[in-house]
Amino acid sequence: YAGRPASSVISERLHKLLVNDYKAVPIVVSESASAYDAIVTLFLEDVGTLFVVNQKGYLAGVISRKDLLRASLGNKTLEDVPVSIIMSRMPNIITCAPDETLFAAAKKLIDFQIDSLPVVRPGEEDPKQMELLGRVTKTTIAKAFVELGSEPKV
Ligand code: ADP
Repeated sequence: YAGRPASSVISERLHKLLVNDYKAVPIVVSESASAYDAIVTLFLEDVGTLFVVNQKGYLAGVISRKDLLRASLGNKTLEDVPVSIIMSRMPNIITCAPDETLFAAAKKLIDFQIDSLPVVRPGEEDPKQMELLGRVTKTTIAKAFVELGSEPKV
């Protein structure tokens, strides 16, 4: 790196970071869970977004804090509201792949104004379904950002 501006060194490293090396464990609820269950899971797992999986364990949807707040505005009992009717649903889910760059994933978070991306790969039995491998959130990006900024200079 000798003689090169620090900015180009950082940029080069930044674009080499891969989703697979930074992804966090996905926190899921089943499609049959209630909005009440989802809220409890948000608190227990300390996350802002949950992924919803179908009976086979494949990605069915995404449910965010605001989705749950919206559902709470009605007068319905939250135990009686299935997450499947308030979640954002496949195939409209923005995902990323494990071999994608973290930069590309961060760009999706910004472009689509969302907090969280499921990391997926096509299912082995059914390639049309998505197997859930992890999650990339704004926290993931902030952690990588801090790590890059804290690295001892080579
Ligand atoms: P919040 O709504 O709590 O601010 P988000 O900004 O992530 O959290 O979510 C905004 C909306 O986008 C919600 O309706 C949520 O269901 C949806 N959403 C969140 N993540 C995704 C995603 N990866 N793909 C598609 N829709 C998503």
